Amino acid sequence: MAVIVARRVRHITKDLRMNPLESQLAYPFGDAIPAPGSIVQVAPGLQWLRMPLPFALDHINLWLLDDSDDQGSDGRRGWSLIDCGAATDATRVAWEQLITETMDGKPLLRVFATHCHPDHVGLSGWLSERFDAPFVTTAGEFGFARMMVAALPGVDGPSAIPHFERHGLTDPIMLEQMRSRRNYYPSLVPSVPESYVRLQDGDLVAIGGRAWRVMVGFGHSPEHASFYCEELNILISGDMVLPRISTNVSVFAVEPEGNPLQRYLDSLENLTKLPEDTLILPSHGKPFRGLHTRISQLREHHAARLAEVMTACTSPRSAVDIVPIMFRRQLDAHQLSFAVGEALAHLHKLWFDGLLRRSRDSGGVFRFQLA
Ligand SMILES: [Zn+2]
Repeated sequence: MAVIVARRVRHITKDLRMNPLESQLAYPFGDAIPAPGSIVQVAPGLQWLRMPLPFALDHINLWLLDDSDDQGSDGRRGWSLIDCGAATDATRVAWEQLITETMDGKPLLRVFATHCHPDHVGLSGWLSERFDAPFVTTAGEFGFARMMVAALPGVDGPSAIPHFERHGLTDPIMLEQMRSRRNYYPSLVPSVPESYVRLQDGDLVAIGGRAWRVMVGFGHSPEHASFYCEELNILISGDMVLPRISTNVSVFAVEPEGNPLQRYLDSLENLTKLPEDTLILPSHGKPFRGLHTRISQLREHHAARLAEVMTACTSPRSAVDIVPIMFRRQLDAHQLSFAVGEALAHLHKLWFDGLLRRSRDSGGVFRFQLA
């Protein structure tokens, strides 16, 4: 039980801020949600699946698209899958049910990933190998998935410790818990395919006779792919736009001088080119309409956080000092690591904008204050 409790809280930071303005969005499918192992059709040839996650954020949506292997000599019919689910027993059971009962005996022809996070690529190796299906994603996501599945120094748990210490974390219990998270990613992602088909921003990918445009976004992960089909007016948004929770945007140890919040806000700007009535298929929550409304809500959410951080920085503050201002609740080690990352993302945007200056004390801790 203790193990279950510990695992359930791990991703709660993704769930920290429920959208108080959710009622401004429209949910065209109402309360319909596919049970694990079953599907709900959201458009002709496009099915919605949902897989369980062992976290407070307890599900991920996946998308199954009718497809055919036009380059193959036999023109096989099958499916293209977008995102895979985490490598848990419950997800494997749901996949077995889908494969035997729901996929009409047709194979997966391609396995796409929006990005490298464990709920999205967890079973990519297993599914890709089982169906001999190519793995399709961007170079940034493929490279990071391969680094993290190997727990390479720089992206494993212990590598984060000096980063958090530089930003003011001193609690020895928290530091020890973070140090012990070495195998977090590999435990949810046992393998990632060793080769891939590369996607780039602007690519048009034909799936089942329809064109899907790759829209790369930044700030949440290295090179996140969303997919827009003009014919259907549908965006498969991955984690870039979610209806209920705000996307995690963090400065991580591997890119300590990054400005991910600016990159994320710029990526949202790019998505406003799509029509307001685009049907958004997000990785968490339900399909919705109201893209521009949601983007406005997210901009305002971050603007309010930035204003709070500015107010706090009338005297020098570390990222750890900022955490209780942005997150007014008790956090465990996992939550704290994301919270420090998010606090730092807001500090860095203000620092890059010239509104804060950064200094380093004799103990090596970074502090930010009004410029
Ligand atoms: Zn993600």
